[in-house]
Amino acid sequence: MSPSKQGHCLCGAVQVQVDGLADEISACFCDLCMRFGGGLQMGIEAKPDTVRITGPVKSHRSSALAERAWCDDCGSPIWFRYVAGRDHGYLELSPGLFSNAGDARLTRVVYADRHPDGYWIEGHSVAHVSQRDYEAENPHLNDGVAP
Ligand SMILES: [Zn+2]
Ligand SMILES: [Zn+2]
Repeated sequence: MSPSKQGHCLCGAVQVQVDGLADEISACFCDLCMRFGGGLQMGIEAKPDTVRITGPVKSHRSSALAERAWCDDCGSPIWFRYVAGRDHGYLELSPGLFSNAGDARLTRVVYADRHPDGYWIEGHSVAHVSQRDYEAENPHLNDGVAP
């Protein structure tokens, strides 16, 4: 975990302060993340009780298990959060809220085999996890729609 980080959305109306921000970024190519993220969704895990967010945030319950939130003024994605199921309370913040992506690095791409034909994502040392393997690790996802 890193020291306190400050972040904000594109327009600045949503301000984020977090003490317990992880140093690893995950990316997801599932259908929901592709649509919400504009082509890919990336997140950094944060300890919810260390996160303080102010401003006009709205959220959408994207599946039985999770919600996604954005700035209601400029549309920047703010968070992904599990709101039910095994991982209830797990929170990821958008790397782009922070300068230098919060000093975190990409370590994991999930639903990796679901990437579109036209693009892909690489990092310095990245695990690529297929839909099949990810859902085998997370069988509760099949209780709802994918994450
Ligand atoms: Zn904004
Ligand atoms: Zn996803």
